[in-house]
Amino acid sequence: MVTAKAWVLKKHFENFPKTSDFDLKKIELPNLKDGELLLESVFLSVDPYMRPYSQRDMKEGDIMIGTQVARFSSDQVGRSKLEFRNLKKIWLDSGPLDHIASERLQSLMSFSFYSISGTCFLTAYFGLLEVCKMKPGETVLVNAAAGAVGSVVGQLAKIWGCKVVGCAGSDHKVDYLKKIGFDEAFNYKTVTSLDEALRKASPDGYDCFFDNVGGEFASIAINNMKKYGRIAVCGAISQYNDSVPQKGPYVQVPMIFKELQMQGFIVTRWSSRWEEGLKALLKWVMEGKVKYHEHITEGFENMPAAFIGMLKGENLGKAIVKI
Ligand code: NAP
Repeated sequence: MVTAKAWVLKKHFENFPKTSDFDLKKIELPNLKDGELLLESVFLSVDPYMRPYSQRDMKEGDIMIGTQVARFSSDQVGRSKLEFRNLKKIWLDSGPLDHIASERLQSLMSFSFYSISGTCFLTAYFGLLEVCKMKPGETVLVNAAAGAVGSVVGQLAKIWGCKVVGCAGSDHKVDYLKKIGFDEAFNYKTVTSLDEALRKASPDGYDCFFDNVGGEFASIAINNMKKYGRIAVCGAISQYNDSVPQKGPYVQVPMIFKELQMQGFIVTRWSSRWEEGLKALLKWVMEGKVKYHEHITEGFENMPAAFIGMLKGENLGKAIVKI
């Protein structure tokens, strides 16, 4: 019998999450059944989606949603250890637990090359390619640009021959964006006018807008789109903590006059093409064309703080908890 630690949603978040909304519980894992593996988490991912999805899909007392990279536990017994000896690390979506019993052997095999940053890479890849449908020579705008998805969006758009404008919430992040090749970058928290900053960065406007933030930023950015521009609605982090929905300005008038296309998407739409995306991305990472940064918080016990810190913008690149 193994005792696992698990982070549980004690109380549904109201506005900004608090550490007291979580509970650390001990769970007795039943003895492994035939075909099950005992896994030990190595890294937990903390992601923005956990905030709106917990509201939509979870009830108080449930284990928090989330993904992790795990390895075989040293307590592993039986056939599975022998059969899967070449599989060193595994990607899972079992939530923030330190031990997991899993029988999803097929999915474990196919995900063996998948990492914590993988979904963020793929979100950038398919969002740009299939939703923005950007072309070389166009101008691409991305917000939350120093984060896991945004930093890859900017670098891919550069690889594909676009001009890239990004914004982020600190000067340190803006320096990072310039270092990784963004043509223009600014701190959206310190500019006196977001509209002016967007016009200054690209006086002719934007062909593509990869929106990670939504809300007021999106309303202002939409007015700076070129005619026939495309907007990929990837995330709306500026709205996830609202208990009362934000009010307009509304998008219809600029969308009509500029004949814009705006499309929401969820990366799993392209799950049948993940291998294609990961192969392309791994090649660019190996060639040094795509750089990524990981913001690591040490300790399983610090998962809630890491999650809250990411929502506050403490992370540069992918926010991860190292167990
Ligand atoms: P991330 O950008 O690494 O981290 C979140 C960042 O959002 C923070 O670091 C912060 O950076 C920024 N932020 C927080 N509150 C903000 C606000 N009120 N206004 C503007 N920026 C704010 O997270 P990620 O994993 O890459 O995700 C980015 C977005 O993509 C999220 O909206 C997420 O939900 C979405 N997403 C969608 C899919 C999909 O399939 N559609 C998949 C993955 C992620 P600053 O310091 O710059 O404020």
